[in-house]
Amino acid sequence: MLLYSGGMGTPSQSMRIGHGYDLHRLEATPPDGEGRPFILAGLPIEHEKGPVGHSDGDAVLHAVTDALLGALGAEDIGQQFPDTDPEWRDADSRQFLEHAVDMMQGAGMRLGNLDVTVICERPKISPYKETMIRNMAGILGVDPGLINIKGKTHEKVDAVGQGHAIEVHAVVLLHATD
Ligand SMILES: [Zn+2]
Repeated sequence: MLLYSGGMGTPSQSMRIGHGYDLHRLEATPPDGEGRPFILAGLPIEHEKGPVGHSDGDAVLHAVTDALLGALGAEDIGQQFPDTDPEWRDADSRQFLEHAVDMMQGAGMRLGNLDVTVICERPKISPYKETMIRNMAGILGVDPGLINIKGKTHEKVDAVGQGHAIEVHAVVLLHATD
């Protein structure tokens, strides 16, 4: 585990910013493809395709986990939870984010705010926003008002625009707790 060495006493470390990015290929669910049940921010969503992945393929929780880990200067999600490790096969991605939250608290930091952008052609994200925000607020232990999520399409361009993949960006700001 690699944590930044600045220490909490230094003013330059009173805030930390982190960015996380994730992409999963979307395929039809078995027997027509290898798509898993579609899940975003811990919310199962009815869709004819699903993410291909080693864990549950929750691209939102993966991007948010990496944003937190990035802000802490810690090893990323792929290093800490390798997709070659059978322990993480079919894993509920909540545990990845819970681990990052533990690390954040251990480093003496708390969430300032979190902004998430989901890019996919379908399904539309807007009907699920509120529940996804509530789910993440629960895991992060914060007021839902600190979390924002928005959906965008890729204007039918490239693999994402043709519905073959989902992309998520997450930006997080952390504050020192004292
Ligand atoms: Zn992922």
